[in-house]
Amino acid sequence: MAYDFDLFVIGAGSGGVRAARFAAGFGAKVAVAESRYLGGTCVNVGCVPKKLLVYGAHVADELEQAAGFGWTLEEGHFDWGTLIANKNREIERLNAIYRNLLVNSGVTLLQGHARLTGANEVEVEGQRYTAKHILIATGGWPQVPDIPGKELAITSNEAFYLKDLPRRVLVVGGGYIAVEFAGIFQGLGADTTLLYRGDLFLRGFDGSVRTHLKEELEKRGLNLQFNADIQRIDKLEDGSLKATLKDGSELVADCVFYATGRRPMLDNLGLENTGVELDARGYIRVDAQYQTTAPSILAIGDVIGRVQLTPVALAEGMAVARRLFKPEQYRPVDYQNIPTAVFSQPPIGTVGLTEEQALEAGHKVQVFESRFRAMKLTLTDIQEKTLMKLVVDADTDKVLGCHMVGPDAGEIIQGLGIALKAGATKQQFDETIGVHPTAAEEFVTMRTVTR
Ligand code: FAD
Ligand code: NDP
Repeated sequence: MAYDFDLFVIGAGSGGVRAARFAAGFGAKVAVAESRYLGGTCVNVGCVPKKLLVYGAHVADELEQAAGFGWTLEEGHFDWGTLIANKNREIERLNAIYRNLLVNSGVTLLQGHARLTGANEVEVEGQRYTAKHILIATGGWPQVPDIPGKELAITSNEAFYLKDLPRRVLVVGGGYIAVEFAGIFQGLGADTTLLYRGDLFLRGFDGSVRTHLKEELEKRGLNLQFNADIQRIDKLEDGSLKATLKDGSELVADCVFYATGRRPMLDNLGLENTGVELDARGYIRVDAQYQTTAPSILAIGDVIGRVQLTPVALAEGMAVARRLFKPEQYRPVDYQNIPTAVFSQPPIGTVGLTEEQALEAGHKVQVFESRFRAMKLTLTDIQEKTLMKLVVDADTDKVLGCHMVGPDAGEIIQGLGIALKAGATKQQFDETIGVHPTAAEEFVTMRTVTR
């Protein structure tokens, strides 16, 4: 049967754009449908605008440190409107770049919501298209628990477009987004409280990292409330919001921000017209090659709920494009040792196993841990500490995990990700000459076993 396209991609986000561009580059006839914004979550309401706001909040740190280096600054003033307008301009620039990337690589770009009408057919704006392969790359969407008053709360989607910086913010959740936005709001001057339902936030991260970040955030004056959860939200006469917690206590704020995870974006996607099944968590079920239970339909990225990170969606998009249209170049995605950063203030960088995971996996573990005050702070009154930690297999000397909390953690951990992928041993870390004077050199100079 002759199809309109070799590949029809639903969603022009991180994974979809990568798959479409490379498939077209390999000679396939490709279409992409996008209902909302080119570049998807990462470019529009995720990684990119988030990092720009993090930079904005970090300026407060630089200003605080300036006096120690002899700078006398006039009373500063922060304008949220300027930051958001500049951020929006940059996002629009990136949207245009994404459009050019797609169009210049020969991809047919269709604007509108795509709905599957069969295993080889998609409908966009009333027009039906057939394709040999269909790739679902529709990403995710914030999920807010169903409590009375939930409509009064915002999520990351809205936070990027707030007209004013709220004076008092309650951030709910204990994952990446909650911790990052608590840092943004607080750094920019809002009175910020983070509420997390468990004992300690960032479940799944290394225990030392979680405790260290908690201590540092508290030093910065962030109000952290653990074992706390909101039961209902009410609007008060003056327009502010009252959150009633499950223990009966009440908190009043101008903004309640929920960062309680994301669900797969399957709204009106027409899966019922195909044989595509979901897994137990509600994400699209795929095999090792991203094929769904309908053989002509594939899925990648956040919608399959594996690792919800842009570089992972990119790698999955690449793998699909290669497998379908350039099989001689196909390599499966390696999900081991994915480096990641939480852009909190201070940030976290991490790759490999946590101490807890290494023990659970049966390794005989040696831990090297260092806490120190960064050189940059020695001329200031700031007492923030940096944490660096190596988790090593005592039998093989292999470094299993590297973890850091401190300035530039994300930048530093990328290189360590290569070392772990190459299977580096602690001895090879030790034999690597440090870059002096940096904080990063601590990763190659830790000699004493902490545990
Ligand atoms: P997306 O990028 O979400 O793209 C999906 C696209 O599909 C969207 O454009 C959507 O409009 C479109 N779409 C959906 N349904 C349809 C339909 N039926 N028809 C047509 N189009 C449709 N990751 C990192 O690695 N680093 C970070 O710092 C980071 N920060 C983040 C901060 C925030 C606040 C958030 C929310 C996420 C962040 N992430 C980060 C995660 C990252 O954004 C996602 O993992 C990544 O965008 C997933 O890519 P994707 O291709 O699966 O989906
Ligand atoms: P996460 O899954 O990381 O965290 C969700 C948090 O919300 C957890 O602390 C969870 O608690 C809590 N939670 C879940 N349900 C409820 C509930 N009903 N009531 C109260 N609390 C609840 O999701 P995020 O929304 O923070 O981010 C989504 C994903 O996006 C991340 O996992 C990450 O993959 C990606 N991302 C990556 C970033 C980066 O690379 N820097 C930045 C931002 C996002 P518990 O732990 O107890 O389940």
